[in-house]
Amino acid sequence: MKELLESARACQLCAAHLPLGPRPILRGSPTARMLIVSQAPGTKVHISGTPWTDASGHRLRAWLNLTPEVFYDEARIGILPMGLCYPGVLPKGGDKPPRPECAPLWHPPLLAAMPMVRLVLLAGGYAQSRYLGPGLMTERVRGQPGLPRFFCLPHPSWRTVGWAMRNPWFETETLPILRDAVSAALR
Ligand code: SF4
Repeated sequence: MKELLESARACQLCAAHLPLGPRPILRGSPTARMLIVSQAPGTKVHISGTPWTDASGHRLRAWLNLTPEVFYDEARIGILPMGLCYPGVLPKGGDKPPRPECAPLWHPPLLAAMPMVRLVLLAGGYAQSRYLGPGLMTERVRGQPGLPRFFCLPHPSWRTVGWAMRNPWFETETLPILRDAVSAALR
């Protein structure tokens, strides 16, 4: 696992497409019980070098009801975006999608190196499409078709605030189930 993480962190495969250059950001351990698969780092995370050190990370930890100490316990929780590097911005605003060559290259060996993972959180449509195929994010979050291994979440960006107001069942029904699933996976 150590060599695999070092190889991933040294990756330059799509450097020509990355406006700030490669800086793969991921965490993992052979003892990890839970894995968070998300979209791609933003600029704050690109600078910090630590995943989820932004407002989205605060929101995600609140959803999971986890302290930063537990959230960043690499022995228990792996973090693997669909694109490991910041992809840049779209002309109309918002971040570009994760680089398409990244997950096919790095996810299979990294998942194989984390055999104790019981629960995979799929945060956002890109992660859900890779692991569950085509589908609508809101329907997946409500129906949770991937349980018990996969738990679907919206990406916890600022856009989720309005989405959660339109879908109040997320807070009253989904988050309690999520917290139970996280507790069981980490126990
Ligand atoms: S986004 Fe992925 S494939 Fe591209 S350089 Fe970073 S780690 Fe490599």
